[in-house]
Amino acid sequence: FNWPYMTGKELYYIAEAHFNGRLAGDGPFTKRCHSWLEERAGCRKALLTHSCTAALEMAALLLDIQPGDEIIMPSFTFVSTANAFVLRGGVPVFVDIREDTLNLDERLIEAAITPRTRAIVPVHYAGVACEMDTIMVIARQYGLKVVEDAAQGMMATYKGRALGSIGDLGAYSFHETKNVISGEGGALLVNTPDLSLRAEIIREKGTDRSQFFRGEVDKYTWQEVGSSFLPGELIAAFLWAQLEEADRITNERLASWQRYHELLGPLEAKEILRRPIVPEECQHNAHMYYVLLASKIDRQEVLDEFKRNDIWSVFHYVPLHSSPAGLRYGRIHGNLKITTQQSERLVRLPLWVGLSVEQQDRVVEVLCKAVS
Ligand SMILES: *Cc1c(COP(=O)(O)O)cnc(C)c1O
Repeated sequence: FNWPYMTGKELYYIAEAHFNGRLAGDGPFTKRCHSWLEERAGCRKALLTHSCTAALEMAALLLDIQPGDEIIMPSFTFVSTANAFVLRGGVPVFVDIREDTLNLDERLIEAAITPRTRAIVPVHYAGVACEMDTIMVIARQYGLKVVEDAAQGMMATYKGRALGSIGDLGAYSFHETKNVISGEGGALLVNTPDLSLRAEIIREKGTDRSQFFRGEVDKYTWQEVGSSFLPGELIAAFLWAQLEEADRITNERLASWQRYHELLGPLEAKEILRRPIVPEECQHNAHMYYVLLASKIDRQEVLDEFKRNDIWSVFHYVPLHSSPAGLRYGRIHGNLKITTQQSERLVRLPLWVGLSVEQQDRVVEVLCKAVS
């Protein structure tokens, strides 16, 4: 299903970090990664973290989420989107997704806003952007912050702007299952000037240590609640090898994605499945190729057929609003009909850098057989 791609230079840069004798965070490799991300994403500040989960937790601290504050998000997402805010006592308010992109339905957000609403968290599913212009207009109108969960969205854009750089804050993941990887890893993108100094403080155990190292203060002290969110240099060295190849990784994935898309056209024409829909203004990053099976097709049968052929194909999120913790900590807005319907029909196909044409043909062949 997935095969972590190594560029070949990871160990070389790790050895360099070793010889540099600097292993703690924020060394030369971390700084290189920060500059690269700032330039490529066009964000004000990029900060490496241990994971996207950690970046989202930083976002909740930065926004000073208090018990009872409400955060609007999709239910069709990974648990970290909600957990980060629940850790601060926040209440996730689950809003339905769009039928086409499976992203937060921007038309339903306004009705979910209450006096306790503090933020909106759009999740860019499969690296396809949410309708950010509309979301930003609503947020500004109601004085809400926007945190983009761009865990899957690195190297993808919305109207030419990098995902993660549009809201107040954005979070990337470099987990092994994502496009650009460091095993575990992530980054917080800070897009508003008033949050960038505090982001550094929260990431450095609540101290102004970063400013101290820049010579801006003569000693560093405890400034506010924070934690240790920064990765060591070995992780940054690994990541640097990946960032150098980020364009090639994206292009190779896009080629495989496009090939699936063409091969599966006939099944869509026969109304056996629906292929992903990418709106005109979105350039995606081929993070994922999924299909939505017609309701007459038994999904388990399809997954079983893949398994019998040694192909690992999987469905995706069990909607958070239907999970034990989601029910305990969250609140539902509306009936979440599309979330339930689409999540029960979705099947993700194997996709990685180096997936061969023969392997791809076999996946499609088995899928055709399973649905006929
Ligand atoms: C992968 C993922 C995360 C978590 O990323 P980690 O780096 O593993 O913490 C969060 N949100 C979404 C939408 C994801 O796909």
